[in-house]
Amino acid sequence: MSAEPVTLAILGASGDLTHRLLLPGLGTLLRAHPGLQVDLVGAAYDDLGEDAWRERVGEALVDGGCRSEQARALASTTRFRQLDVTDAEAMRAFLAELDGAGHAIVLYFALPPAVTQRAIGVLQGLDVPPGLRLAIEKPFGTGLHSAQELNDLLTSVVPEQQIFRVDHYLGKATVLNLLGLRFGNRIFEPVWNAVNIERVEIIADEALALEGRAGYYDGAGALKDMIQSHLLLVTALFALEEPASMDELELRDLIVHALRAMHLWEDDPTQSRRARYTEGQIDGRTVPDYTSEEGVDPDRKTETLAEVTVEIRNSRWAGVPFRLRSGKALGSGFRGIVVKFRPVAHLPSGFRNEAAPNMMVIGIAPETIALGIATNGEGSRWDFEQTTLSANLSESPVRPYGEILDGILSGDPLLSVRGDATEELWRILDPVFEAWSDGRVPLDEYTAGSYGPTAWN
Ligand code: NDP
Repeated sequence: MSAEPVTLAILGASGDLTHRLLLPGLGTLLRAHPGLQVDLVGAAYDDLGEDAWRERVGEALVDGGCRSEQARALASTTRFRQLDVTDAEAMRAFLAELDGAGHAIVLYFALPPAVTQRAIGVLQGLDVPPGLRLAIEKPFGTGLHSAQELNDLLTSVVPEQQIFRVDHYLGKATVLNLLGLRFGNRIFEPVWNAVNIERVEIIADEALALEGRAGYYDGAGALKDMIQSHLLLVTALFALEEPASMDELELRDLIVHALRAMHLWEDDPTQSRRARYTEGQIDGRTVPDYTSEEGVDPDRKTETLAEVTVEIRNSRWAGVPFRLRSGKALGSGFRGIVVKFRPVAHLPSGFRNEAAPNMMVIGIAPETIALGIATNGEGSRWDFEQTTLSANLSESPVRPYGEILDGILSGDPLLSVRGDATEELWRILDPVFEAWSDGRVPLDEYTAGSYGPTAWN
C-alpha cells in the first residue's frame, strides 16, 4: 500500500468499467487500508457534471464495502473534468492541473481501446510529468503485430516500469494462492511436473448469457475475451519455475519464461473448438438463441464457447496437455483448475481394484480446494474408493480490481502484465484466430444450459 498521496485520474469516468469494477474495487481497498491517500479525478468526453460524478463515486465506493464516512470524504473532494483525450491542448492543460498537486500521478485509461491508443499517441508529443504511471485496460492490441506497436508507443512515453497493463485475474486471491499452495507445501512442488501430472484443465465457464453486453462481446467472443488473456496467464502462473522472491522482476520474468515455452498442441490450430449457444433453459428461465440477441450480428460467427489445448515445451511439462476452455450460457458455472495426476507406478498385488488417480480441483470463484485421494474402502480392506478432502477458502476482502489498484497506486507492477507477456499471449493464439477466420474450424452449437456440444464430450 502506498503511504504517499497519489493522484488517480480515471479517463472514461462515466463508463461501465469505472462504475462496475474500478470504483467498487477502490472501495474495498480503502476499507482494507483506511490510510490510503487518493486524490481522485474523473474525466470523460461528455460533461457528466461534478455533482453527478461525486454521487456516483460515493455510491460505487460503498458498493465495494467502503465505510460510508470514508466514501463521503473521498466523494466530497473528487473532481470531474470534461476532456477529449485525443485533443493535445486539452491533455496538456489536464496534465498541468494534475501535476500542480505535486503527487505521483496515475492516468487510468478506462476508454475504448482505439481511443486509448490515440490518447497515448497524444501523450507522445507532450512533456509528461516525471514518474507518470499509465494504467491500460485489455485488450492489449488485436494481434501480435498491433501489440508490438502499442508497446512501442507506450514505452516511447514512459519506461516499462511505469506501465500497468491490467488483467484482473492476476488480482484474484485464488489465482495468487496457486503460488502459496505450491511453494508453501512440501507435498506439492515435488510432484508439479510431467512425471506426476497427466493433464491440466483451466476452465472459466459461466451460466450467464449475454446479459445485454452484445456491443462488446459480439466483437470479441470467448477466445479473445477470456482465453487469450486471463486463462493463458493463469496457465503461466500454474506452470512457472520457482521464483527466488516474490518481486515483480522475478515473477514477471518467470511468467514470460513459461509463456515463451507455450505452444498450441501439436502446433495445430485446427484442434481448437468453438461453438455458439442456441435457445435453452437456465435455472428455469428461457435463454434466447445467441444470434437473436439484440446487437448480435450472426454473420460475425462469434463463439460463445471456446476450447484450446496448449503444451509447455520444457523438461518440466513436455507432453502434458493444458486444456483451456471458457464459455457462456452453460449448465455449469465452474471456474477453476482441475489437475489430474498419473496413476501410481505400481500397486501391490492383493488389491482388488485400481486406485483412481489423484485429482486436485482449485476453484477460482467460489474459492475452494479439493483433493481426491484413494483410500481403502469402508468395510472392504482391499478395495479402493475415492475420498475427497475439501475446503472453502476465505474470500479476500479486497476485490481483484482493488488488488490491482493497490499495485498501481504504490508503483509496484508485480500484478500488472509486462509488455513482452502481452506479445507472447498473441503469439500463442494468433494461428487459432486465423484458422477460425479462414473457416478451418467449424462453429458448433450447444443448447443454452447444457455443458457444451454433445459431440465434444
Ligand atoms: P464504455 O464504453 O462503457 O466507456 C467508455 C468511456 O470512455 C466513457 O466514459 C466515455 O465518455 C469515454 N470516452 C470515449 N471517448 C473519449 C474521449 N475522446 N475523451 C474522453 N473520454 C472518452 O467502456 P467500458 O467502461 O466498458 O470499457 C473501458 C475499457 O475497459 C475498454 O478498454 C474495455 O475493453 C475494458 N474493460 C471493460 C470491462 C467491462 O466489464 N466494462 C472489463 C474489462 C476490461 P463519454 O461517455 O462521455 O463518451
